[in-house]
Amino acid sequence: MTAPADDLASPPHPSDVTMMRRCIALAGESVRAGEFPFAAVVARGGRIVCESINRAKSNGDANSHAEVVAIGEAQRRHGTDLSECTLYTTVEPCALCAYAARESRLGRVVYGLHSPLMGGHSRWNILDDHRLSEALPDVFRPAPAIVAGFLQEEVSAVFRSWNPIAWQVIKARGIFVAGPARSTPAGSIDGLAARLLAGMRTLVIDRIGRT
Ligand SMILES: [Zn+2]
Repeated sequence: MTAPADDLASPPHPSDVTMMRRCIALAGESVRAGEFPFAAVVARGGRIVCESINRAKSNGDANSHAEVVAIGEAQRRHGTDLSECTLYTTVEPCALCAYAARESRLGRVVYGLHSPLMGGHSRWNILDDHRLSEALPDVFRPAPAIVAGFLQEEVSAVFRSWNPIAWQVIKARGIFVAGPARSTPAGSIDGLAARLLAGMRTLVIDRIGRT
């Protein structure tokens, strides 16, 4: 990676609008591919590392969510530590995708619509859970910086144009909704012992199983 690392302390970033609009355009591509209007972009320093539309239908795999596919591709290209990267996604990551974000150590997550029923932030707080990194700093980095509700009206417009009736039902059932726009700073690694353990992942854990 040659782009500068993303600054985790000052959301939103100047490139957030560009990256999220790319993500929203991809959600339109997802619809044209016969998928739900989900999409994800992984970026570093304002440059796209990789991106994906939803792949559940094309892969025949209900778990091929756009975020999981994009995070997987980013790791294959740049290794399992994505702490200097930002994940952009049209909808709050579900529990599966939120866990994938934590395990790949993403430094920032920016999402549009809220997901009160399936969300890995507002329903089950995996994204901003501090116990994971406090108990296992050798595996999980501190919680990522989170920007919620970003450009959510533009995301809503994609859902509306995809299927106006389905979108009304989705909103009425509280599945995906516009919610408060807010930012949460990244967690920090406290203490020398935790910092030493945090270095263990790249020195030891990521090497286990390598040939
Ligand atoms: Zn998901």
